[in-house]
Amino acid sequence: MAAAGDSSSSSCGGGGCGPHCSSSAEDATAERMGRLSLSRECGKCGGGAVAVAVAGGVGLCGDCFRAHLFGKFKLAVTSNAMVRPTDSVLLAFSGGPASRVALQFIHEMRSKAIESWDASNSQALPVFGVGVAFVDESIFCLKPKHEIEAAIEDIKSIVLSLSAGVKAMHIAPLEDVFSTGSKDGEGRLREAVDMIDDDTGREDFLQCLRMLLLQKIALENGYTKIMLGSCASAIACHVLSATVKGQGYALPADVQYVDTRWEVPVVLPLRDCLAQELILLCELDSLKTQEHINKPSNGINSLVASFIERLREENPSREHTIVRTAQKLKPFSFNKFSADGYHDFLPSRLRPKFQKVDSDESTFPEILCLICGSPFSESELQNLESTKHEAQKKIDLYTSHCCQSCHFQILPNDENLNEHFFSLLPKFWTGRVDTVSASHSLLRDQIEEYLLEDNDGN
Ligand SMILES: [Zn+2]
Ligand SMILES: [Zn+2]
Repeated sequence: MAAAGDSSSSSCGGGGCGPHCSSSAEDATAERMGRLSLSRECGKCGGGAVAVAVAGGVGLCGDCFRAHLFGKFKLAVTSNAMVRPTDSVLLAFSGGPASRVALQFIHEMRSKAIESWDASNSQALPVFGVGVAFVDESIFCLKPKHEIEAAIEDIKSIVLSLSAGVKAMHIAPLEDVFSTGSKDGEGRLREAVDMIDDDTGREDFLQCLRMLLLQKIALENGYTKIMLGSCASAIACHVLSATVKGQGYALPADVQYVDTRWEVPVVLPLRDCLAQELILLCELDSLKTQEHINKPSNGINSLVASFIERLREENPSREHTIVRTAQKLKPFSFNKFSADGYHDFLPSRLRPKFQKVDSDESTFPEILCLICGSPFSESELQNLESTKHEAQKKIDLYTSHCCQSCHFQILPNDENLNEHFFSLLPKFWTGRVDTVSASHSLLRDQIEEYLLEDNDGN
């Protein structure tokens, strides 16, 4: 996230000159964050080290601060059943501080689980596995090739530095999403992106592609969960920009810990941590980050990010306030794992596309936008209903399964180009329309209609 960007130089240049540097780095960092605690002792352990204030205003020493963040992460993971012993978790690593901390913490949880596994007599439960995925978007990066290659080497070395913790590292270029069943992934990706006129639409489209690529990597390599490093600050940006874009109805879906809309469920264990806290932890612990191949961003998303940054400068707890407010909206049924936990032990691909919810809630499956996966609002459902009888061609099915926001900012302005646009998209993406339409019997209705018309004609 742009919001989590460029403040990673510490007093020693971020070079990690050893543990003895940490106090001066702590000083400098805390000062820059403008949140140096008034009391010069830790509110938790009473230690006399320079304390940094975290959200809520309590001053904490470095050790307590670390424990505080890890505690939030662990609580999110355990209280939402994010990771089960049988799971294989794919961590999406961008190189930024948030996913760097997620990588560190999940690795730590795994190491502790292995320790207790070794210590236990029964050794009945296995210990979950962790793999790492890096989505290489250098196709849109204007930096020279050797810089990009060096950055990717850095990413590899960061992951490899976690001794024996990570079972695999997947570095996948974004165009891989397009190259299934087609030789020219790069050409297709460029053409599809070029067809989108709106800056914000283009960014949101790339965001969808990132998720699809992660899904693809997870499915092809047997991962059962995808872990994202989305922190409170990133989510606050999303809340505001979704509101500006008129995506309010679908918003609650994106701000929860768990999202089972996708074939491989997605979890957000850092939802309660601020970007500034994660950056600070990276500096305190000399956790190396690598953000050189981030693209510059235009459009609404970056405007909102800079707005959030200004809010934070005024009052660091504003991001929490935004996220908490959004959390009061009612989540969707797919924002949790099924209550009985039965499905969680099945490979996710065997689970029903739309997971059943508790019996006391509506079991009506949400209709999801074909492009961005947003659940349809009442008015979008009505539109779908009314076009359902007119839809004669596959392209009409595709467009009627896109939410209003994707219609507005992603689909080509010229309707005649829609067919070409959808033909560029990866098969396993557009193929979803068959599953989706079958699931609410749109296709069946249509076949019946065709049959009836045939009979009438005879
Ligand atoms: Zn302390
Ligand atoms: Zn959409």
